[in-house]
Amino acid sequence: MAEEQHPTSLVFDAADEYRPEPLPAPEIPAWKDGSIRIGIHTSIAGDIAGALDLAHGLGANALQIFSASPRMWAGGAARIAPADCDRFRARRRELRLGPLVIHGNYLINLASPNPVLRARSVQAFHQELVRALSLGADFLVIHPGSSLNTGTGPAIAAVAQGLKQAARGLKLGELRILIENTAGQGSSLGARFDELQAILDGCRDLPVGVCIDTAHTFAAGWDLRSAEGLEAALREIDGTVGLDRVAVVHVNDSKTPLGSRVDRHEHVGKGRIGLEAFERILKHSLLAGRAFILETPIDKPGDDRRNVTVLWKLVGKEVKGSASRDGMKPRRKKVKKGSKGSRGSRGSKGKAGAGSRPARARGK
Ligand SMILES: [Zn+2]
Ligand SMILES: [Zn+2]
Repeated sequence: MAEEQHPTSLVFDAADEYRPEPLPAPEIPAWKDGSIRIGIHTSIAGDIAGALDLAHGLGANALQIFSASPRMWAGGAARIAPADCDRFRARRRELRLGPLVIHGNYLINLASPNPVLRARSVQAFHQELVRALSLGADFLVIHPGSSLNTGTGPAIAAVAQGLKQAARGLKLGELRILIENTAGQGSSLGARFDELQAILDGCRDLPVGVCIDTAHTFAAGWDLRSAEGLEAALREIDGTVGLDRVAVVHVNDSKTPLGSRVDRHEHVGKGRIGLEAFERILKHSLLAGRAFILETPIDKPGDDRRNVTVLWKLVGKEVKGSASRDGMKPRRKKVKKGSKGSRGSRGSKGKAGAGSRPARARGK
């Protein structure tokens, strides 16, 4: 009976529509000013916000960090204290640093056939996403993982599925997940760009893109030394993942030869790729607008600053940073017996790109 009191035809009245207060126009971060962005992986040891001053002092205007120890499964302190996040965001705004790239934990292997390791990887990547969001990161870089000979197809599906599981329930906003190409060491996925494409295709609803590492690309067989070689690699990238999906380029020279499938980073211009090639990469019109991030080794004090300066020089700029600031400490080569923290750097997992990491980053 009561139903009869309702009008039989419902007329849409625009005035009845719920209108939330208009959201404030998103603030365009100061770093998105169109200027070339050169950064370096900096240590978070001691104080996470200290990484910002470190990068700035070295002359970088972008940076990459780990948001936790890269070779340990996060324990209780998986989150970063809100006060530290606030301080980090405020300092970053002051220094106009960006993009902020976070590199994921090396132990994460979303392709692992071992259900326990895979579950742990999904959980750890979820925590990576949470920390990246709390720090206001622009990009979170992750290696595709290792299939351990279960076959490429199922491994790729497992990675895509794992990314989706890890992101479930999170509002990623401006954060983008970048899958990094690899040297193809062992059974690791991602030395082929069509494998990266297949991963991206498997998680279309997520904001995913790609990070290209020059040392990995070279070790995977792309001859970046010549202009033709670079063109061929860019063509392949564009024909698979698409160049528009490449947001970050890791600019590392390679200690190992072309096609070696061994991942060892070297100072820019001191390795097998050479300075000329890096000039072409930095100035290539198809790579304009990408962030160029160094993950070069620190063999002696000042190596970090030298590599940043070299990149600026290649793009025709004199940027020195602040000479009064110390850079990162050299990475210890010899490992103290029984030292727990050092073991990771000797294992096969730790070696994947580990040569470039500041030892201090591991302490946190
Ligand atoms: Zn990496
Ligand atoms: Zn890299």
